[in-house]
Amino acid sequence: MEFFNGQHWRRLTMDDGLIWNDVAENGFFEDTDGSVWIGTSNGISHILEPASLTAPNTLEVAITAVARGAVAQPQASSYRFNYKNKLSLSLYLATLNAPTRTTLQYRYRLKGLERDWVSSDRPRVDYPPLPPGNFTFEAMAYDPDNRQYSPVVQLSVRIVPPWWQRTPAVLGMLTLLALGIVLAWHMRTRHLRARARSLEALVASRTRELEVDKQALEVARAALWQQATHDALTGLPNRSHVLDILAQAMRDARKQNQPLAVALIDLDHFKRINDHYGHLTGDAVLIEASARLRAALPPGGTLGRYGGEEILAVVPNVPRHDPAPFEALRQHISKGVFGADDAHVELTCSIGVSWLQPPDKDAFDLIRRADTALYLAKTEGRNRVVAEGERWEPS
Ligand code: GH3
Ligand code: MG
Ligand code: MG
Repeated sequence: MEFFNGQHWRRLTMDDGLIWNDVAENGFFEDTDGSVWIGTSNGISHILEPASLTAPNTLEVAITAVARGAVAQPQASSYRFNYKNKLSLSLYLATLNAPTRTTLQYRYRLKGLERDWVSSDRPRVDYPPLPPGNFTFEAMAYDPDNRQYSPVVQLSVRIVPPWWQRTPAVLGMLTLLALGIVLAWHMRTRHLRARARSLEALVASRTRELEVDKQALEVARAALWQQATHDALTGLPNRSHVLDILAQAMRDARKQNQPLAVALIDLDHFKRINDHYGHLTGDAVLIEASARLRAALPPGGTLGRYGGEEILAVVPNVPRHDPAPFEALRQHISKGVFGADDAHVELTCSIGVSWLQPPDKDAFDLIRRADTALYLAKTEGRNRVVAEGERWEPS
């Protein structure tokens, strides 16, 4: 049964001397002498001094021992342990002024690890190895019969982190890390700069090489072009090139509505020079004849080696039937001996001239008429200019 004396609740059981653990209805009676009668289903109990049952409670709890791993620690109110990941913590509790009843309970918690109170009837508390940090162990005893709690006792436990987890070590390591990063960055930057410099130098030297290659290529290309389009002996445009030049000159003349003359120049009796002085002298004469013709050619005109000793002159802007420029050419050939190889060769040439006419379809229409005029010049005695459509005798 449970009763209230105005201050505390109290539970009475057979341990306290009751006959049975219940109470009959209206089975509680206070007698005139202050004693109390309690009727149970098994009989009546007579409590002579009920005040003694509700004596003020002085329940207390104490932490009697602390052990870390298997090692008992000296008594203290606070403990400081170095972190060890295998050492558990054990605390031993004891109550003072507790009724010797089996219902007594301990309530405890380890603040920093758990928030809720744990109830147990065992006076020993075991914790697994604690992590680094500050903990407060709190414990109290609870007497359910008297519904009373003891005051809370406290004990602080500090688990010191290993050196490498402490602030100075962490700060040191962070500093080292930062220094390492700065150093690595610095080295990387230096490496990249050096690499960029060497790449720039490489590019510059490669560019110079390419420039040289390009110039050599341009020279080679120009030489090839010269070779493909010019005659090796006289240096004049060769047959195909002078025909291209003539085709272009025809287009230009038509576009600009300007006259265009073509002259076929054939060296007279050249075979005899070869026969008399030899082929090499013949070559030298051919070279000098080309140079003389070039010197006397009107501005804008072009010479080309059309055949063996036949030279084609393309001369724009020469008025129709005006053979004067071609007469000048003829005179340049015949006006003095050729000093080639000290041979003192005398040379003349025959020239046939034609002008561009509207019906001319291509270069050969023009050349054909110049060739006819040249034939006339030859048959009429050589060393003369015959312009298409008329006879013109040398002075
Ligand atoms: P014609 O007055 O009728 O033109 O007489 P020709 O002897 O000049 O004419 P022909 O066509 O019979 O002979 C041309 C000669 O020119 C024959 C050839 O050996 C010579 N000849 C052609 N090309 C060269 C050359 O590059 N070098 C030398 N040395 N002779 C050449
Ligand atoms: Mg000939
Ligand atoms: Mg000839």
